[in-house]
This record gives sequence, structure tokens and C-alpha cells, in this order.
Amino acid sequence: MPRRIEKLEVFAFDRQTDRPYLGDTANGVVDLGPDYFVRQFNGTIYPKRDRSIVVCLTDSDGAQGWGETYGLVAPKAVVALIDDLFGSYLKTLDPDRPDQVWDKLYELQRVRGYWGGFLGDALAALDIALWDLAAKSKGESIQSALGRKGGGQLAGYVSGLPPKTRQERVDLAVSWKERGFDSVKLPIGAVDDGDVVGEMNALRDALGDEHRISLDIHWTKTAKETIELDAALQGMNPWFLEAPTKPEDIAAQQEIAQSIKAPLALGEEWRTEWDYRYRTDACHIIQPEMGHTGITQFMRMGRMAQEHGAEIIPHATIGLGIFMAASLRASLAAGASSHEFQHTIYHRNAALLEGAASCENGYFEIPDTPGHGVTPNDDAFQYLTPIKT
Ligand code: MG
Repeated sequence: MPRRIEKLEVFAFDRQTDRPYLGDTANGVVDLGPDYFVRQFNGTIYPKRDRSIVVCLTDSDGAQGWGETYGLVAPKAVVALIDDLFGSYLKTLDPDRPDQVWDKLYELQRVRGYWGGFLGDALAALDIALWDLAAKSKGESIQSALGRKGGGQLAGYVSGLPPKTRQERVDLAVSWKERGFDSVKLPIGAVDDGDVVGEMNALRDALGDEHRISLDIHWTKTAKETIELDAALQGMNPWFLEAPTKPEDIAAQQEIAQSIKAPLALGEEWRTEWDYRYRTDACHIIQPEMGHTGITQFMRMGRMAQEHGAEIIPHATIGLGIFMAASLRASLAAGASSHEFQHTIYHRNAALLEGAASCENGYFEIPDTPGHGVTPNDDAFQYLTPIKT
């Protein structure tokens, strides 16, 4: 009998945080009760806790694979797609070919126009778990299954400067430099007085000419505003500008990419290669997010980036960290040059996993253990609630 998926379990990961992601919520938010708030600088909803959806697949040999996707907002939508749409068909497909399984599951709703969003997230969770299982069944790591043998190092860049004052943010950036990290990213919403140029120059002065400093614009500018901001930042040589404008406005993204001097980075909201296909001339760096793409689509975007001479610097979202482990493995295989390091979250939640990569002195140390190398440990189950499927 060929190996098949026999059991599909889904868990909600939900953990209190000391401080909301991106920092202070005292000003500029609309409070929506126990679960959410809206940040007014970009109109986006954020959860008050670390949340994701975790899946565990068990095959007919009794082996298990773990996956994870977004559960920040309306996590039951993802669970319904996994349970009601994908689960029964998944059990008929060949688990040794996760890429083919992705295509088959995607095809179920393609002609009805379901090409991304929550559907992409549900596919990502299953895809990561399938790759984990398929690689483990051969006793190899995911990077090896993807053609890149062995463990390795990948540069991590320090993401986010949440303190309330400029001096504290600069001091935090300097403290990470002293710990061996040569790259940092400032989110535009963290600049409390709105003087982004002043903030970037203060970081440059404190960190020196060689340090890489990027700016996440969080989709808040028009093309014209971004081009003006880029011109104002030329003296401080930004590493890249990220997500400047509305993510669906391809024409504005193209105009920006062709007009600014700093490299333009896009892609954290993409689900599939189709999201990148029409933007190959609209960015210099792609930032695929494993929690949205899964390994299959992450690698397809990566290959497209190689063909177009774009750099790969993946995004890192918030959750238990199974998707992060998968992202690090796939990043090695795809030839990524760096990876986002969520310093406020990574080690705290990696402590809930067996086998997570370390991130010290500027680098993730990625082992060559089978699959993506991580499983939730006993402590993790305090925060994992099984959802009946
Ligand atoms: Mg971003």
C-alpha cells in the first residue's frame, strides 16, 4: 500500500504577550476588546496576543509532520478551509510529492477565483507539514530535499525598534550591533514624532556608515511620497525601502521601483508565484512569508527571483515558529542573503520547540536534522488548543 495521510489535527496557538507587536498602543489605536486593536497609522488590525494555526499530519506509517500558518485574525476561517475543503482530498493524494499536492488542492477552487488570502494560508500550513513528513520519511532535512545539502548559517537582520523614544530606539539598535548584528529595520510607525528622515539619520550617526539600515513603510505612502522620501534619505544610504504603498497597486510599485535609488523590497503579503509574476520589474528584493506561501510557493518565488536577479530576504511573522523553521531551511535552499529576525519574539517562542535554530552574533545556525527540524515540546501544549476537525 502506498503511504497516505491518515490523520489531520489542527491546533490554535494563543499566547499572551508582554508588549504588542510594533510596540506601544497608548496612542493612535482603536481598541476592539479582548482580541484586537487597529493601528491608525496604517489602518491595520492586529491581535493582542501571539496567535497562529498549527497542523499535525500523521501518515499510514505513523510518522508525523508539523505545519503552521497565520491565525492572527479570524483563525476559524483557516480551520474551516483545512477541515471542510482540503482534508478529505488530501488523504487521497501522494504525500511524497508535496508540490503536486499543493497544485491539486489549489485547483479545487481556482476557477471560482479563490487564489490567495485565507485559502493560501490554509494551503501553506498543510504544505509545510507535508514537506516535513516527506523529508523525514527519507531521513533528510528539508533543505536537502530541496537540493541544498547540509546545515548552514544565514544572516539575521534585527527587525523592529519598539521603544517609545528616539534615544531608546537608537540605543536598542546599538545594543544589537554590540551583539554582532550588522543590519536593522525601522518600522515607520515606530517614529513617534513623524520625523522619519531625522530618525534614520540618528540611526546612521549612531550605527556608523557600514551598518545596514532599512525602513518598513508599512504601505502608508503614495508613489510620489515614496519617491520624495527616498530622495530625502539619500544621504544616509538606506539598505532597502519596504512595502511603501498599497500592496495591490502594481503600477505604483513599478513607478516607485523605477524611480528610487534605494532597493525596493516587496512580498510579505504574497501567497503564490502569481503574486510575484507581474511584479518582477516592481521590486529588487522579495520577502516571501512562509506562513502565507508554504514551501512549494516559497521555492517557486525563489526560483523566479534568481531568474530576475532579485535578492531573497524572507519575512518572519509571529507564531509558535514552525513556519519560521521551515522558512530558514527553504531560505538556505533558495539562496536567501538574509532573513528577518523578530528579536522581540523569536527566542521566546522558539523555547516552545524542540530543535529550533539559534540566532546569535548576527546569524541563524540552521542544523541538518530531518524535516524542518522542530516539534512542539511539552511547554508548547499550554498554548495549543486542539480544534475538532
Ligand atoms: Mg513589513
